[in-house]
Amino acid sequence: MLYKRSSQLFAEAEKVIPGGVNSPVRAFKSVGGTPIFVKSAKGAYLYDEDGNRLIDYINSWGPMILGHAYEPVVEAVIEKAKLGTSFGMPTELETKIAALAVDMVPNIDKIRFVNSGTEACMSAIRLARGFTKRDKIIKFSGCYHGHSDSFLIQAGSGAITFGTPNSPGVTEGTAKDTLLASYNDLENVKTLIEANKNEIAAIIVEPVAGNMGCIPPKEGFLQGLRDLCSANGILLIFDEVMTGFRLARGGVQELSGVDADIVCFGKVIGGGLPVGAFAARAEIMNYLAPLGPVYQAGTLSGNPLAMAAGLAMLQALDSDREIFKRLDEKTAYLAAGIDRVLKENKIAFTINRVGSMISVHFDANPVFDFKSAAKGDNEIFKKFFHGLLQEGIYIAPSAYETWFITDALTYEDLDFTIQAIAKVSKMI
Ligand SMILES: *Cc1c(COP(=O)(O)O)cnc(C)c1O
Repeated sequence: MLYKRSSQLFAEAEKVIPGGVNSPVRAFKSVGGTPIFVKSAKGAYLYDEDGNRLIDYINSWGPMILGHAYEPVVEAVIEKAKLGTSFGMPTELETKIAALAVDMVPNIDKIRFVNSGTEACMSAIRLARGFTKRDKIIKFSGCYHGHSDSFLIQAGSGAITFGTPNSPGVTEGTAKDTLLASYNDLENVKTLIEANKNEIAAIIVEPVAGNMGCIPPKEGFLQGLRDLCSANGILLIFDEVMTGFRLARGGVQELSGVDADIVCFGKVIGGGLPVGAFAARAEIMNYLAPLGPVYQAGTLSGNPLAMAAGLAMLQALDSDREIFKRLDEKTAYLAAGIDRVLKENKIAFTINRVGSMISVHFDANPVFDFKSAAKGDNEIFKKFFHGLLQEGIYIAPSAYETWFITDALTYEDLDFTIQAIAKVSKMI
């Protein structure tokens, strides 16, 4: 396949946009080459500016869980747009989506909508700090919680790929309030808590990690965090920006049976429009302005087009009781196929998967934290990525990314993908 026009468009973009992209993971820095420019997308497929059709395993980094240009979402947006695109005043629609989210997710009474996952996580830790009257937070290496200062201490995918784990521009003052632990390592967390008695406001965690590939929590890890938090007056924040409304109707709280104190959302909750949200029980949420002292705001928060898209998406997921099972089955089928063909071609690999999140690591050892994820062979990944691109399959242009399976994928698409991987793996 040729990607000539995309390359030309990228050269034009580079003149006026830093690196030619509006978010660094979109650039092909870690795999080489130039990004693909999309013209349109429908269902499981992307159509690019060169006229190629690609099977999409990124799906806008998660939101398009039911496929691109999903009719009910598109229609909801069109209908709303005709009635005005922003008011900066309350609308009934905001209450509807809030009520549905509160109904779907366990253990939350109230939810506040923002415009991105970054905003959701940033606001969640401010709320946690205000509520506990403490300053420090614990995050896990390799977990990504958006690009706000407190989290860019050793960020996930984007920053790892570029080898700048500490971004210039983040002050030392901010950095000293973020403590880093290893994912799946409870002892590490315990040590940090003991060394910072009564100073830690929150532990924020991706309850299934997805920004260093897909890394499931080990048995007992989430419950262990819950117990440590409860015993030490710390709030447990589940960053479900990736996992929320993807792994189960109620997210990882439902899957694991572990209750979080604050939950962050993004991606799927906006149906492909810019939406994030954070939620908690009333006691915590009432601490937010205008009810409480913790300030948080947004001119476009709860935007009617975004809320219409999100509501249509959540309604579709809520009304289809088989959806998460179907996604799990499709992803299991893909995983089994990839496992078979990589083994046949004697390639060292590990596949991690939880529901419709899956990642292929080019290292034979178990991948359970950032260090083990970083051992993957990036040279093999590059060949794998470009080989698949030639076959018309688009996976994320970084070895640290999870693939997001959409319900629009058919078993034919999955078979085609497995065959393509077999072909590509012969050339690695
Ligand atoms: C994508 C992501 C974010 C950031 O969301 P944006 O909408 O890109 O700001 C935060 N946390 C997790 C777990 C994510 O996957």
